[in-house]
Amino acid sequence: MIVTVASFKGGVGKTTTAIHLAAFLQGYAETLLIDADPNQSALAWASRGELPFAVVDQWQAEAIATPHGHVVIDTPARPIAEDLALLASSCDLLILPTTPDILALDALALMVQHLAGLPIAPYRILLTMIPPYPSRAGVEVRDMLLTTGLPLFEGGIRRYAAFQKAALAGTAVYDVKDPKAEVGWQDYVAIGKEVLALALEVNDEGTV
Ligand code: ADP
Repeated sequence: MIVTVASFKGGVGKTTTAIHLAAFLQGYAETLLIDADPNQSALAWASRGELPFAVVDQWQAEAIATPHGHVVIDTPARPIAEDLALLASSCDLLILPTTPDILALDALALMVQHLAGLPIAPYRILLTMIPPYPSRAGVEVRDMLLTTGLPLFEGGIRRYAAFQKAALAGTAVYDVKDPKAEVGWQDYVAIGKEVLALALEVNDEGTV
């Protein structure tokens, strides 16, 4: 399947999500991460350490002859309208990460507005960097998004320093020495399972 991760704002965990979903999907089939973001954060991440899947830029991707079981695409932040239309239609699932704060939610609202009316793949909003208790930001934003009826992953990604350590080390979070590395990874495992379940629904019914 082709999973595209997109956002209208930087710093919402787009690349971290692309890396960890690719790591999850690699456990099921050979997975390729295409870094189509001019910032090349995923390529830089991969160059610092070791990841269990290949990361290439979009030009290298065109040259790859062997088809991959799964492809994850990390897209440019703030895509122009034509690019957004193309990237949102040429995948099986579009993931829109957002942090639970007003600036990110404003950008998400703009993205959803742009997507409305376009012939796009099914999409899901992913709450990322959810701050720990006693903050209620994660719960409040989830409740607010649910009232809008927008499609949201059941799971969410909590804010853990382990993710920053993973980016620095060039590994997936499970390879980082940190007490929260495993729970951080399990947050993405839960999302990966939702992604696979959605893929089955798409195959069965043609829609999510
Ligand atoms: P984007 O691709 O949207 O710009 P990144 O994935 O590069 O976002 O993340 C932006 C910053 O937030 C990075 O420093 C990254 O390490 C950090 N980050 C991402 N996800 C988490 C998380 N769940 N918990 C803590 N820090 C995170």
